Amino acid sequence: MPKKNLFDVIIIGGGPAGLIALAKLEPHFDNVLLLEAKNVLGGQVQALYQEKTIADLRDFSLIKAEQYLEHLINKINPQHFLLNTQVKDLLLQKNKVIVVVEAASFEAKCVVLATGLGFYTPRTLGINGDDASNIHYSIAKLQNFKDREIIIFGGGDSALDWTRELMKVAKKIYLVHRRNEFRGDATFLLKQENVTILTPYLPLSLDKNNEGSVKQVTVENILNHEQLTLNCDDIIVSYGSIPTKTAFNLRAETGNYLINQDFETSTSNIFAIGDAIMYEGKKKRIQPIYDEVDTVIKTLLKRLHKI
Ligand SMILES: Cc1cc2nc3c(=O)[nH]c(=O)nc-3n(C[C@H](O)[C@H](O)[C@H](O)COP(=O)(O)OP(=O)(O)OC[C@H]3O[C@@H](n4cnc5c(N)ncnc54)[C@H](O)[C@@H]3O)c2cc1C
Repeated sequence: MPKKNLFDVIIIGGGPAGLIALAKLEPHFDNVLLLEAKNVLGGQVQALYQEKTIADLRDFSLIKAEQYLEHLINKINPQHFLLNTQVKDLLLQKNKVIVVVEAASFEAKCVVLATGLGFYTPRTLGINGDDASNIHYSIAKLQNFKDREIIIFGGGDSALDWTRELMKVAKKIYLVHRRNEFRGDATFLLKQENVTILTPYLPLSLDKNNEGSVKQVTVENILNHEQLTLNCDDIIVSYGSIPTKTAFNLRAETGNYLINQDFETSTSNIFAIGDAIMYEGKKKRIQPIYDEVDTVIKTLLKRLHKI
């Protein structure tokens, strides 16, 4: 836990924007803290595309997302962040901001919001037992699924993307979708021997072993009610996610905090960067975040160090 309670700067969100901000703030301020709601740093990079190559960063020609994340994490002081700490509210007091988390609060002279698109909770299967340990909502390492029998539920782009990647390593994949049509092009799956497409099917029940892992899933055809029982080692649910974005009583438009040219929000001493904001010409990518952070730091140095 942090030793102090009044911080120069508290950063909210540990995605690329929060990590870039923390690394760039640390040389200027002893007293900085980053709060991340999840149990892991990295935001969308960690949750959605660790195995993808990033090709549009100025300092790297091509870099695998997980390596880029490692690069960001290596640049920060591990004493300066807390995981599993979702910020619930920001309260203003004279010359400071109270940052409210579950059953506690911190105080900061300034706050940098790096909350991205918000805090995502994946949609579950919605049937009894869907909290089993071998039900996954994202895939960190493809190799964890080597030679496994996998059932993938979903019909959107990410269900197809995961099938495309996993079919290279898995022993068998069942792709189960409640409609006959997929949202993206699924023709690449037709010739794939280790992939079976089941449409229009829905999950009906899960059969767990003594360790609490699902070993069999019964699915039902929603037209003729035919039932099939499938063996599995892992289940991947790709039903999308429910965003929770905290507005913190700041002025916002279409989910983006409104900011001025210094990236300061409608409330003095609260700044916002990254995917949480939009301005003319802004691309919701990582590269622009570096310039956004530099601008915020100039203002913070003037304001806190009075230079
Ligand atoms: C599939 C995919 C591929 C992409 N590929 C590229 C690419 O090749 N190149 C590129 O430049 N960009 C790419 N992007 C976009 C890039 O990932 C985003 O622009 C970047 O992640 C934005 O960073 P961020 O830190 O602002 O937000 P996020 O990555 O969304 O991180 C926000 C963090 O804040 C946390 N948080 C939210 N609310 C709270 C709260 N109340 N309290 C505490 N913590 C909170 C969240 O848990 C999360 O960790 C891609 C995006 C996707 C989805």
